[in-house]
Amino acid sequence: MDQPKLEFQENVPLANHTTISLGGEASLFKVCQSVEQIRDCLTYAKDNKLSVQILGRGSNILFPDEGYDGLVVKIDLKGISLTEDGDWLVAHAAAGEDWAEFVRLCIDHDCSGIECLSGIPGLIGATPMQNVGAYGQEVSDTIISLNALDSKNLKEAEFTNKECRFGYRQSRFRTKDAGRYIITEVTFRLRKSSRTEIHYPELRNYLETNFGLNILATGRPASEAVRSAVLAIRKKKSMVIDPADLNTRSVGSFFMNPILSKREFESLEEQWKLSGGKDQIPTFNAQGSVKVPAAWLVEKAGFHRGYRKGGAGISANHSLALINCGGTTREILDLAEEIQQSVFKRFGIRLEREPVVVSATVD
Ligand SMILES: Cc1cc2nc3c(=O)[nH]c(=O)nc-3n(C[C@H](O)[C@H](O)[C@H](O)COP(=O)(O)OP(=O)(O)OC[C@H]3O[C@@H](n4cnc5c(N)ncnc54)[C@H](O)[C@@H]3O)c2cc1C
Repeated sequence: MDQPKLEFQENVPLANHTTISLGGEASLFKVCQSVEQIRDCLTYAKDNKLSVQILGRGSNILFPDEGYDGLVVKIDLKGISLTEDGDWLVAHAAAGEDWAEFVRLCIDHDCSGIECLSGIPGLIGATPMQNVGAYGQEVSDTIISLNALDSKNLKEAEFTNKECRFGYRQSRFRTKDAGRYIITEVTFRLRKSSRTEIHYPELRNYLETNFGLNILATGRPASEAVRSAVLAIRKKKSMVIDPADLNTRSVGSFFMNPILSKREFESLEEQWKLSGGKDQIPTFNAQGSVKVPAAWLVEKAGFHRGYRKGGAGISANHSLALINCGGTTREILDLAEEIQQSVFKRFGIRLEREPVVVSATVD
């Protein structure tokens, strides 16, 4: 191997860098505070034929128990600049900034548009990857553009919102261009002092009971109320990281909600009724298609909250959060597969995993 130009940490336990506290050691690890450092890491890895894994806060990633035989690059780029533009606020945020703190900052500046995404762990740079979303908002609703470093030619590139090809928990950075671009900065455009629209029933009910729906009419009080409601609901579901709560030792929801065509949904309904199902299948509207809550499918396939299998389990407060109960990545993945197979057997639907699963050996 060539002499490193950068100083790397060696044999770093990845469990210390993931919210699910799992993963063996990374043979090399580097915290990068500048684009130049990321570029140097990529050059070093190429020269030494090492695979590279980008890491943010580690809240949506599973590393293998065997560890990662390559270079893990942790993004730590900092800086946020805010510019007023009439009724709008434009925010340029570096990829290493904390997402939840950014949401708080924008609300403090009288903005709305991302308040439903309060309490989601992770860094800014990862939010476009899977188009982070919750309670009816998606980060893609407010992103104008982003900057990224192209690992193929080490040049910086800019992508407009349209070019990111956002979808439900998707973007080009997870599909066609998976592993190619390192996001360095994201630009958001947020509306100031506007009326907030909340359609998500659980959140709307909470707001109505605790604040009254009139609170939604006025800019900052509306965003503040939505934020506190979202945090309260998320806390109850152990969806806000809390080291004292074992149920938060997860990667969030492990499965995405399946999106079915109307025809597929009708056959699901038929199958459900034929098998003796009495209650109605809950749904969310998804632009002409039907989104079925994965949590409902998991529960009806026989998995209850608090279910345990060895060192892996299902959160006592959320049926989609697989948690580490002193186990291994292998046990989490085995439990996930068991759930996927049971749902498939019962409903003919293959649930898709949401987190990124890193393999031990890279070709
Ligand atoms: C308790 C809990 C609740 C959650 N709730 C939600 C929720 O409500 N909605 C939701 O959408 N998600 C949720 N998540 C998932 C997670 O928080 C988000 O996906 C978050 O954006 C991941 O950010 P991160 O920095 O931790 O990314 P990481 O987990 O570190 O990385 C995730 C992926 O993004 C890549 N990546 C990270 N940063 C960059 C970058 N700068 N450039 C290129 N690639 C990058 C990594 O290589 C990896 O493939 C939850 C997770 C937990 C643990």
